[in-house]
Amino acid sequence: MKALVTGGAGFIGSHLAEQLLNDGNKVVVVDNLSTGSLRNIENFQNKGDFEFVEGDICNANLIDGLVEQSEAVFHLAAAVGVKLIADSPVHTIETNISGTEVVLDAVNKFKKSVFIASSSEIYGKNESAPFREDDDIVLGNTGVRRWSYACSKAIDEYLALAFHQQYGLHVVIGRFFNTIGPRQTGQYGMVVPRFVQWALKGEGLSIYGTGEQKRCFCYVGDVLDAVIGLMDSEEAAGGVYNIGSTEEIAIGGLADKIIEMTGSKSKKEFVPYEVAYGMPMEDMMRRVPSLERIKKAIGWEPKTNLTKTLEVIIESEKGKL
Ligand code: NAD
Repeated sequence: MKALVTGGAGFIGSHLAEQLLNDGNKVVVVDNLSTGSLRNIENFQNKGDFEFVEGDICNANLIDGLVEQSEAVFHLAAAVGVKLIADSPVHTIETNISGTEVVLDAVNKFKKSVFIASSSEIYGKNESAPFREDDDIVLGNTGVRRWSYACSKAIDEYLALAFHQQYGLHVVIGRFFNTIGPRQTGQYGMVVPRFVQWALKGEGLSIYGTGEQKRCFCYVGDVLDAVIGLMDSEEAAGGVYNIGSTEEIAIGGLADKIIEMTGSKSKKEFVPYEVAYGMPMEDMMRRVPSLERIKKAIGWEPKTNLTKTLEVIIESEKGKL
């Protein structure tokens, strides 16, 4: 199979491209290197079955040509990260809506199959736990930038489902919950790589808010199994699936765990959201996925626990010091 991975020089996309190559596929990555990096693909960049194209998903001519030559498209390119969303709100909305529209148009034109990367952010302020895929989306008002990312991902989902319903397009949507692993950068506000880097350098670990907010972190290798499994399944087409771990940890507890695992002398420092982002930021106290639907569809559940995942990340970050 020839697969196109948009955003394949990014964190999850580069692992996906590598996995697809290891599975014997030909892989083309298109990425504008905005948050991604050539370092992420350097291990496999010179393999014969791999091609990297530097370009933008909003460029319809480029995407048409790349989609036409592929059998399956994994659409992961997006403006990602709470900090980027806060700093570049126009860019976030335009990339995430227009880019996905271009990809879906091309996939429909050439009748290919497509995976769309969505997000647990989509559940917004919904307070139910665990989140089921058919739960309501509860977003805040349009004056709060954070919700523009969730809303853009919701539009992507609506559009993808509309292509499926109206044209029979083979599309499957995965809502990633917090995904972690080597190659994730802390630059755009991702908590785990930042905590690990600070702990290894003996610097304070900045915790936004009270640190009581809980998250479930899933190992990127497990996420790839879900993505590839969903794309391989005929029955999964036209569906929306949560992809994440159900092992919950409070952010303060995560900081303690990382300090302990790295043997660091770092201390926790609490920073109000207004100071961290330069504006008030609404945050959710819990975000746990229901995995019932994906288990039933393809039998997937995560295999790697948080401790094991953190060990892998700490080793990888030590290698960069
Ligand atoms: P990432 O920033 O590492 O990857 C995104 C990639 O897209 C980057 O390589 C970036 O350069 C590229 N990109 C951005 N705009 C582009 C454009 N206009 N044209 C071409 N390439 C462009 O982030 P990631 O964590 O790997 O996220 C991958 C996908 O998963 C995204 O769609 C994101 O919304 C989704 N997601 C990730 C998480 C997570 O925990 N990491 C959670 C929920 C959803």
